Amino acid sequence: MSPPRTIAVIGAGIGGLTAALSLRRAGFEVDVYEQAAELTEVGGGINMGPNAARILYRLGLGDGLDRDAVRPIGSHQRRWDDGRTLQRAGLNPQCERLYGAPHLTVHRADLLAIIAAAFPAEHIHPGHRLVGLADRGDRTEAWFDNGERIAPDILVGADGIHSAVRAALFGEEAPSFAGCVAYRGLVPVERIADLGLERGSQSWLGPGAHLVHYFVSGGRLLNFVGWTEHDTWNREDWTDRATIARALAAFEGWHPQVRRIIASAETCFIWALFDRDPLPRWSVGRTTLLGDACHPMYPFMAQGAAQAIEDGATLAACLADGRDRDPAEALRRYDRLRLPRVTRLQQMSRANKIRYHLPDGPAQQARDAEYATTGDRAPAALQWLFGFDAGVLEVETG
Ligand SMILES: Cc1cc2nc3c(=O)[nH]c(=O)nc-3n(C[C@H](O)[C@H](O)[C@H](O)COP(=O)(O)OP(=O)(O)OC[C@H]3O[C@@H](n4cnc5c(N)ncnc54)[C@H](O)[C@@H]3O)c2cc1C
Repeated sequence: MSPPRTIAVIGAGIGGLTAALSLRRAGFEVDVYEQAAELTEVGGGINMGPNAARILYRLGLGDGLDRDAVRPIGSHQRRWDDGRTLQRAGLNPQCERLYGAPHLTVHRADLLAIIAAAFPAEHIHPGHRLVGLADRGDRTEAWFDNGERIAPDILVGADGIHSAVRAALFGEEAPSFAGCVAYRGLVPVERIADLGLERGSQSWLGPGAHLVHYFVSGGRLLNFVGWTEHDTWNREDWTDRATIARALAAFEGWHPQVRRIIASAETCFIWALFDRDPLPRWSVGRTTLLGDACHPMYPFMAQGAAQAIEDGATLAACLADGRDRDPAEALRRYDRLRLPRVTRLQQMSRANKIRYHLPDGPAQQARDAEYATTGDRAPAALQWLFGFDAGVLEVETG
């Protein structure tokens, strides 16, 4: 029998680490290389639909998720000024019943720690910034800023929106500023206990802005992300603007609950949104990409990390299924299976950026009327998204 193939994953974010775990469970020898000196995630929350939660539970991460993640009972969308309900939908237990997996809200650092704890630490290599790679036919050679070189059978770039692997495969191209910045903060729940918030997710839609909040860390913290539109972004100008006072100014005139939550934050930081055009393919020879490295998407479907997790599951299934064949063939299959779904979500996320930020007027009224009648949040209507199992390979025809 031939020895198991070796796979190098570049980037130990949520996408890279989950893929590494999926690949290891599929029987490959996997090493992860991360530029940072230690594993880190920004202090914020993440929404995890059942399509991704299913994969995390299957990877055996249930104990950690049940301890640290929250199962929101529903989502509630409201108007920015008077708080009027635009739409409501149940999330749990409906998702558990319909899709066999819950909808979760989780602190990013908690999630990363849960995934990392399930992967052998000796196969995670911090302090390794990939600076170059070359296709050697039967393997990919890669080298790092610390002088180390590797030559795995397969190399996976999970190195985020500024991906060096993507640049090596398809050329350098800077991402463009998407005209949006987010104020993000965490609120200890005892500071807002009098608001009596139900254990769910709420989003507030207003002219040129929207704000989302939900619980994380076993319900001890409320996470909020408030998006506002801006023409320009300059890191140097903006980094000092991430104060609570600035966030409050950005949401001037909004409902008292929104302002109270922002004012109660422990700290507040700011995040600029960047964008890239979709790629026609992600794989070249024995090298491929996943997550934000190949399909960064606006977070307005809350699916960026979820799709990175799906990528890892499909990649592992394709490579396992094609174990005895040329890996390049399996990587092409991975591209074919993943691209249409991810492109659809990129397009829907872009559309929501406009839809969520409509100025008050006829278009906003038409949107609200549609939300009130058909809605777009009910789990039952999201079968194509939540019911999908990325670890099961579709039979390809034609
Ligand atoms: C405000 C906000 C809210 C969001 N909310 C949601 C949500 O609710 N649900 C959801 O599913 N998604 C959400 N997303 C999207 C989600 O955060 C991203 O899609 C996801 O984190 C991408 O994961 P990744 O592993 O592909 O990339 P990253 O998390 O960027 O990880 C890349 C890793 O690669 C490392 N790296 C980079 N370059 C190199 C190199 N040259 N060599 C070695 N290592 C390198 C980096 O240090 C990093 O650790 C949100 C995004 C934002 C900005």
